[in-house]
Amino acid sequence: MKIFIYLILLLNLSCFAEDEHHDHEQHHHEEENKKNKKSLSAHEHGVSVLNIVQDKDKLVFEFEMPGFDVVGFEYKAKKKEDVKKVKNALNVLSDYKNLIVIANKANCEEQESSSKVINEGSHSEFLSKYVLSCKNISSIKNIKIMFFDSFRFSKKLDINLVANNKKLSKMIDRKNNNLKVEGYFTD
Ligand SMILES: [Zn+2]
Repeated sequence: MKIFIYLILLLNLSCFAEDEHHDHEQHHHEEENKKNKKSLSAHEHGVSVLNIVQDKDKLVFEFEMPGFDVVGFEYKAKKKEDVKKVKNALNVLSDYKNLIVIANKANCEEQESSSKVINEGSHSEFLSKYVLSCKNISSIKNIKIMFFDSFRFSKKLDINLVANNKKLSKMIDRKNNNLKVEGYFTD
């Protein structure tokens, strides 16, 4: 176990060194945002964001994840092993079931899916979006969050849900990874 922890530290030494001074600060990228509105705005390492929006029978899930949370570093991957980590992460993100699980009863089908990584200065962010169409949307009582199981560096997920008539904002972590949504998704 000690060896394992040592290896993790070793692999991420450069990242931790770099993050020493601003680990819990929010990072603003106003300059870059002026140039490209789609680029990353502000994030806190260890806190990913999940926005969920209901549109009739559709559910839109948008994840915004600091590179730190997903691969453990935020510099642009150049070394072979880092490139591989990014590639693997994008592969995990390509299937929404690696991030969330909704009971079969809801009869949801994926309509759209996308994932990408954005690099900006010394920071990076993974963005992914999934659109599900659910025949029995009002039956959804829970959304199980698998995100923490897929990415071992992740710590917290800041969830914002906008359903037909109700809104919810909740911070969850890997010990508390079930989102209770009973009564939220009315037809
Ligand atoms: Zn960052």
